[in-house]
Amino acid sequence: MDSSDTFPVVIAGAGFCGLALAAQLLERGQAVVLIGHAANFGRGTAYGDAWRGHLLNVPADRMGLRADAPAAFAEWLDLQGDARRQFRPRLEFGDYLAHELDGLRMRHGNRLRCIEAGITAISRGTDARWHIAIDSGETLESDRLVLALGAASTASTTTNCPLIRQPWARDALSNIAVDAPVLILGTGLTMIDMVLALQAQGHRGAITALSRRGRLPLLHPEPPLPPTPPSPALLAALEAGDLYLALREFRAAITAGAAPATLADGLRALIPQLWRGWSLPTRKRFLRHLRPWWDSVRHRVPREVFATLGRLREEGRLRICAGHFIDHENGSARIRWRGERDDVAIPASAVIDATGLDGDRDRYTTHPALSALVADGHLRIDPLGLGLDCAADGSVPGADGLHLIGFLRRGECWESTAVPELRAQAAALAERLAAY
Ligand SMILES: Cc1cc2nc3c(=O)[nH]c(=O)nc-3n(C[C@H](O)[C@H](O)[C@H](O)COP(=O)(O)OP(=O)(O)OC[C@H]3O[C@@H](n4cnc5c(N)ncnc54)[C@H](O)[C@@H]3O)c2cc1C
Repeated sequence: MDSSDTFPVVIAGAGFCGLALAAQLLERGQAVVLIGHAANFGRGTAYGDAWRGHLLNVPADRMGLRADAPAAFAEWLDLQGDARRQFRPRLEFGDYLAHELDGLRMRHGNRLRCIEAGITAISRGTDARWHIAIDSGETLESDRLVLALGAASTASTTTNCPLIRQPWARDALSNIAVDAPVLILGTGLTMIDMVLALQAQGHRGAITALSRRGRLPLLHPEPPLPPTPPSPALLAALEAGDLYLALREFRAAITAGAAPATLADGLRALIPQLWRGWSLPTRKRFLRHLRPWWDSVRHRVPREVFATLGRLREEGRLRICAGHFIDHENGSARIRWRGERDDVAIPASAVIDATGLDGDRDRYTTHPALSALVADGHLRIDPLGLGLDCAADGSVPGADGLHLIGFLRRGECWESTAVPELRAQAAALAERLAAY
């Protein structure tokens, strides 16, 4: 490291966000320490812990690491013409990120320190600096710390029945027998990933996927269609937080010929601003009533993935159901189908929770990099448990020099999940940190 930079920016977490931010900071002449688990360093959960059959759900020409070069991944693959819009394997995207990290090391090696380690604790010292302890025993100090920990899931999250709460953990599915009946909670993208992962490991048993409404993600329009801008009436309803009226306007637009997917694309960039303007009760209403529908139109799947699901459903190996999971005991799960009054038992040797971590507040108080910061009051869980309190620029109020990027910001802006939004956050945050 350059000895003149006594306190480089420390980035805790080396997934997509950590890498995208490091790239932006290094290009602005900053020194950076990037710390993350060795197992998926520089790739993170989505692109490091995937199976070969898992595809990106964003076309290749929109997955570049930098906001000013969105097509860089497609260019790295040398894709031409329509192929640039392909949905490529997630592991291949991980290889692209590894290539980008190698490039950063070559170009900025004197200002970049990569530490492959687990963060065991973060606290604020009496010197007002952030102290980051890692499992090698070393403690780093900095006056600028960015938490890029993804969803901050912890292996310690448990429930009162033997269900797989961490579907992304390595080997999470490895104990599931080939012919075991499996229940998956959730019918979104994670459920689809789990079905594909089970197929990849030779599973041939029956799979039931269950959610409140049994709604599957939509298909990506092919060929791609441009976003449909929201009508003035739809926008006004959303701005007023009148979600009932907004849904009516949305449906009216569909009746008039717009595709739900392109309407969602037209709204996507406006979501953070709308979300910030909504009261807490409106946000709650959105999560309770509109979210399942919104998620299905916003987070879509490529055609080939949809075809695999269709084949499994035709073969009777996968069923998508609406209902409510009650509990699981001795190889069977108790379910109440939507609209029914009585419970039924279905065979289920394994239950995979693919509903996501929203509302799981325990993960903030048990995550090694967050727990002390939460306990000491430097970080506060947002009222809906979606993330941690922060300002629109990712800075944490009252915690000078502490910033968030990515999933942890969802309570503040909701739309903080996918590469196009995350790399924009990285560019804006780097600008701010460089001026610090
Ligand atoms: C399965 C899946 C598929 C997805 N597919 C797409 C897609 O196709 N397109 C798209 O745009 N978005 C996709 N996403 C969204 C995805 O979340 C973002 O694209 C992006 O990968 C998030 O990066 P991140 O750095 O915020 O989080 P992560 O990738 O989760 O990175 C966080 C990193 O922090 C590390 N970490 C956590 N705790 C510690 C600790 N105590 N010590 C050290 N390191 C720690 C983790 O090991 C991890 O490497 C997908 C998400 C998932 C989960």
